[in-house]
Amino acid sequence: MKQTAAYYRSSTQLQEESVTTQQYEINQYALKKGILIDGEYPEPSVSARKNKLNERPQMRQLMTDIRNGKIGTLLVYKRDRLARKVEEHLELYKLFKTHQVELHFIAENEPPMRFDIFGELMELFIGVMNQREGEQINLRIADTKLSNFLRGKSIGNLPFGYSSDESHTKIIKDNEGLNIVKTIFTAWNTDQYANLEKLAQQLDKDGITRGKKNWTRNNISDVLTNPIYMGIRIANFDNRQVTRSVEDLAIITPEEFNLAQELIEKRKKPKKVKQKYDYLLSDLLLCDLCNKKPLSNNARMREGKTYATYECKEHNIRLDQHETESLVYLKTKSFFTELLNTHFDKLYTTQLKINLAEISKLKSIFEIELEQAEGKLVQATNMWIKKENKSNEEKILELSKKVKIIKDKLFELDVRKQEFIEVPKFIEEIEAEMLKKETWELLPFERKKALLKDLIQYILVDDYTTRIVFKHPYLEANEVVN
Ligand SMILES: [Zn+2]
Repeated sequence: MKQTAAYYRSSTQLQEESVTTQQYEINQYALKKGILIDGEYPEPSVSARKNKLNERPQMRQLMTDIRNGKIGTLLVYKRDRLARKVEEHLELYKLFKTHQVELHFIAENEPPMRFDIFGELMELFIGVMNQREGEQINLRIADTKLSNFLRGKSIGNLPFGYSSDESHTKIIKDNEGLNIVKTIFTAWNTDQYANLEKLAQQLDKDGITRGKKNWTRNNISDVLTNPIYMGIRIANFDNRQVTRSVEDLAIITPEEFNLAQELIEKRKKPKKVKQKYDYLLSDLLLCDLCNKKPLSNNARMREGKTYATYECKEHNIRLDQHETESLVYLKTKSFFTELLNTHFDKLYTTQLKINLAEISKLKSIFEIELEQAEGKLVQATNMWIKKENKSNEEKILELSKKVKIIKDKLFELDVRKQEFIEVPKFIEEIEAEMLKKETWELLPFERKKALLKDLIQYILVDDYTTRIVFKHPYLEANEVVN
């Protein structure tokens, strides 16, 4: 009996994609499905980008075992564990096909491997996607400033009540200043002051100064809205707020801080300028920290002007609408351009020819079958007219059923054919409307939205990353029919 094997590969030591994690996931899956794993091929710390298939010892062994007919079933976490290069991906696909290896992919959203004529084209698409850095683009803030901030290395400008040591590496509490901060929070939270101006006057009366100067409304506002006093430091990077916990610097509780914010909001003069914006990415932007809940559309004030945002209030995520949309447009455009540059077009055209030829061949076989079945049906009907008996009746029923099945198959082939033919048309449309910025900007809003939806599965946002997950164009077309 053929054996069941599992292949694991990690390119780095990162926890999220480690061999152990894959092994765990695959074992859970096997347990659930009642599959017994006979052999494992673990390949830790081997890059599929830098090493060819035969330069990976475990992969080489696995391929030999498949060629020798030992393996019947293979469990893999995700396709990109097998190969990162299109050619290699297709090479493995053909090997599996020849030796009838049944593939199980464990990762979510990983489509099954099909060994029919459509399967190969699908694998080609996925291969291209995987070659191109998986299906995702990380818009990481590749800023050393950010990592320094997150690691607590960058001190930056310190708010009132804190200073740094001489080497400028450590934040020091200035207790005298922080006592004043505490006084300000306590006073404000009594809800006795109609506005911050009134509180400033009171501080002046009590002889509480800010260094040599008096407290102003703005100074007080800076203190009351800075979360550092409850142990959270916030810095802005690329218009994105990044937070870091600094609990040892806290002097008030989060409850006190939140109450202060509520009271500031309450005391604000109501002057809501409602302006309508068209949000291009409305259903696409999801908060990764909230289980993929869509970000909400919002409008805010900055230096007297309103601007639109996408936000997750719970996670303090605030994206500038305009910037995010142009960034997503640029990334989508470059992704698509690159997809076309990976000889996708050429590979697709070759595949298209092969597949269309295959479909035509199948069609003519079915057409002959149909002709024969219909001929037999006419004969049987003539027989039945001559002699109405049970056996002739059954024959007619059986033949009609057969005719219907063949017609359905022919119809399905036509649908498939249409899908294949339409992929280049879809690609052409995108090329025409999207690749030139001038054309793109002139498109009607609804059309822009539809095009982005055609190309993007969703965009995941967290504290400091925005990750675009693109669609497999062919897979999408395919899902409509299945
Ligand atoms: Zn959230």
